[in-house]
Amino acid sequence: MSARIIDGKAVAADLRARLAERVRVLGFAPGLRVVRVGDDPASGVYVRNKDRAAQQAGFNSATLQLPETTSEAELLAVVAELNADPEVDGILVQLPLPQQIRADAVLRAIDPAKDVDGFHPVNAGLLATGQPGLVPCTPKGVMHLLRAAGTAPRGARAVVLGRSNIVGKPMAALLLAADATVTVVHSRTQNLAAECRRAEILVAAVGRPEMVRGDWVAEGATVIDVGINRLPTGKLVGDVAFAEASAHAGAITPVPGGVGPMTIACLLENTLEAAIARRGLAEN
Ligand code: NDP
Repeated sequence: MSARIIDGKAVAADLRARLAERVRVLGFAPGLRVVRVGDDPASGVYVRNKDRAAQQAGFNSATLQLPETTSEAELLAVVAELNADPEVDGILVQLPLPQQIRADAVLRAIDPAKDVDGFHPVNAGLLATGQPGLVPCTPKGVMHLLRAAGTAPRGARAVVLGRSNIVGKPMAALLLAADATVTVVHSRTQNLAAECRRAEILVAAVGRPEMVRGDWVAEGATVIDVGINRLPTGKLVGDVAFAEASAHAGAITPVPGGVGPMTIACLLENTLEAAIARRGLAEN
């Protein structure tokens, strides 16, 4: 079998176009502020792409660039200002932060109603208890991709490889909320390959280049590869050995062009949702 490729670029473009249309109909520009401390080159590209996508969809988006030497108190003061600004609907503090700043303290200081990354413990708690809140962008994007692939989580055996707060845990919570039977596997799991082989939906978020081999994938499974790993050669690969896995999977995301483009589109979706909730708007 040769797997169907799930085209994340196309699904993301479609989502961004639908968001742009909703923004146009609502008649105002949702405000997004990205705060960046220092000059981490990997996040530089990401921040520029965010700004471009946001502006194209009619959002009022800006990046606040702070120096590498910014103290925690200074960053907290910036967050407080954005919390208080009525024009700002979404705040995203770009990680990683320099070592003098505690990321936890900063993430907790963001108003949960403006926490478009969905990392605040209040939003994590709402997700864990099945209540509406802001959901982390990457796993939210994965749910869109499953829908686009025609893979219904209800009743399906899903395995999530990785248990980070950013991807693995919220991913498992979303799949559970969508009625999948969810197993989370990690670095202390015995016999990873056998666990993964049981999956009808396999989501890999480990950060280990091509760790998931072809024989870890059940025939016909939907495989979502969240990993982004740069090899010493400069080549970008996922956590799944794509060619091998494609021989078994029913559908699979490529890297790049799979989950990556969805993350920014879902950031915009969260910003629009935050704006609608905060401003008490209704959509027809
Ligand atoms: P983390 O490093 O925070 O978490 C990795 C998880 O994988 C941990 O739970 C860890 O287990 C587990 N793990 C690591 N090595 C192994 C192993 N050998 N066997 C089994 N489990 C293992 O990473 P993130 O969740 O932040 O990111 C995962 C990947 O997704 C990365 O490649 C990252 O670049 C990518 N990513 C992509 C995004 C996108 O937009 N597409 C957004 C965010 C991340 P343990 O908890 O036991 O240590």
